[in-house]
Amino acid sequence: MATPLLHSFCGWCLYRGLRGPLKLGGSSSGKLAACLVLANLPDLDLLPRLIFGVLSPHGLYTHNLPAAAGVGLAVGFRQGRQWGLMAFILVMSHLVIDFFTGLRLGLAPSWGLAWLYPLEGGRWSAPATLFLGTRHGSWEVLFSRANLWAPLYEGCLMAALLALAWFRRRPPGLLR
Ligand SMILES: [Zn+2]
Repeated sequence: MATPLLHSFCGWCLYRGLRGPLKLGGSSSGKLAACLVLANLPDLDLLPRLIFGVLSPHGLYTHNLPAAAGVGLAVGFRQGRQWGLMAFILVMSHLVIDFFTGLRLGLAPSWGLAWLYPLEGGRWSAPATLFLGTRHGSWEVLFSRANLWAPLYEGCLMAALLALAWFRRRPPGLLR
């Protein structure tokens, strides 16, 4: 799966882009923190493995449409419809990124997701891999040298997107 860096970046972009249209109120660090947590929420299924060494499946129980809908409904029930929709979108952003994540970039099948679990257990892969995945069986594997490529790639990708956004919104006359 992709790293929390990319999921958090996506959560930050969605918060900036949707807080106005969804009328989430003014900017605040608490709301941003909630969005970052929600964008990373599906990966909580890694904790039993990393803390207790339990061989629990990663990317199954929390990485599917019913789970995303459940989070949206739970948040919406507690915080209102707009936040429920925002929570659903944030969790879905995580799933979409993970859907296009694999070990080899390009026209290679991604690891994919079991989108409809537990209703249907089939795992679907994307035809192309857009994001580099990491291995995460234990702390040693998680922080191994082989896992350095994913955050490096994601850092370059995020820097390119931020540069593009800045270039499009730069003050007139700059860079002339
Ligand atoms: Zn994930």
